[in-house]
Amino acid sequence: MADLLSIDDALAAVLARVVPLEGDEVAVGDAAGRVLAAPARAAVDLPPFASSAMDGFAVRADDAPGELPVVARIAAGRPVGRALGVGEAMAISTGGVVPAGADSVVPIENVEDAGDRIRVPAFVGKGDNIRKRGGDVEAGGTVLGAGTWLGPAQVGALAAAGLATVVCSRRPRAAVLATGTELRPPGASLADGEIYESNTYTLGAQLADAGAVVERLPRVEDDEAATRDALERGLAADVLVTSGGVSVGPHDLVRRALADLGAEEVFWRVAVRPGKPVAFAVRGRTLVFGLPGNPVSSLVAFELFVRPALLALQGASRPRPPYRPARLGRSVRRSPARDTLLRARSHVEDGAIVVDPVVGQESHMIVRAADADSLVVVPRGDGELPPGATVDCLAL
Ligand code: AMP
Ligand code: MG
Repeated sequence: MADLLSIDDALAAVLARVVPLEGDEVAVGDAAGRVLAAPARAAVDLPPFASSAMDGFAVRADDAPGELPVVARIAAGRPVGRALGVGEAMAISTGGVVPAGADSVVPIENVEDAGDRIRVPAFVGKGDNIRKRGGDVEAGGTVLGAGTWLGPAQVGALAAAGLATVVCSRRPRAAVLATGTELRPPGASLADGEIYESNTYTLGAQLADAGAVVERLPRVEDDEAATRDALERGLAADVLVTSGGVSVGPHDLVRRALADLGAEEVFWRVAVRPGKPVAFAVRGRTLVFGLPGNPVSSLVAFELFVRPALLALQGASRPRPPYRPARLGRSVRRSPARDTLLRARSHVEDGAIVVDPVVGQESHMIVRAADADSLVVVPRGDGELPPGATVDCLAL
């Protein structure tokens, strides 16, 4: 087994086969969860004008301390058409246009007698409580670079910079197929030997979360012709993810069927536990991931190989899993030939993430895995890793 591919080499082989998808114009309101395909540049200075950061009074710093007449009232969106003269104040709301001539805003709580005249009792600084025009970004400046995944703050930034649409990579179309004669949909009654099909639910959710448009194909029995037909249908997608049937049993038909259909197998089997029998193939521009059927193996293999591929397809600048260092909460046994991905719960202790592997680490135990919030990488080797050892951890 020493010749099994490492996780890193397998991921590199996957990413080497990815050809990024073309870009689409997307309304900014629909852009959350997408990846920018071109840099987004600000349409205007942001803020577009010098504006007040507080409710208060626009003044000249040189006039404070002092008593000043209030000559105008400026609401947000209602600038006044004249400059502030020497010895004058103007009431101003947060977000109001600071008039020409003013160089400071005194917050309302810092003045006395806030009526038609105010008394500013103390010195004020030039520029205090004024948001500079273009202080966030200048017109034409980069709001976000190509390859940025757009979350809530990012779409807000695009809208604030005046962009109604942005160019995002097309969403990958993903097909997901469960193989196995024993599988029944949840809610059906089970005959002896049957189990509920769960992987397409897990994988469907993972695929959608990674930005794909998901088609769940009807599950297929372990029959050669049926498997070929179902795979052929799935190969029309950008990404085909199958579960089950990639191991070494007589009913493991997926790899052979893929070969019959002209898919080129890039690798089969990786030095990882769970998930060893994972297969990766390509046909034309379609990427095919043959994931093992055990529910936890499928969950883990998706995070290691499929999610990065989907992100790379969308042009993400950092498609690899974002591992973070964490400390082991208890000792764990290493596997001699394979890196192990343990399901764990995390908490913070003395400023560090501490991960405690959940009880029940077998690859069929999806209910136990559902209690975890992290995957922890235990590198292959002899013996045990002690409590406190630093490990890579991935949020689930
Ligand atoms: P296989 O990889 O086909 O040998 O399947 C390994 C194990 O995973 C077997 O116990 C299968 O019954 C189970 N399994 C396969 N596919 C699924 C699925 N879609 N949902 C739940 N369990 C599955
Ligand atoms: Mg099977």
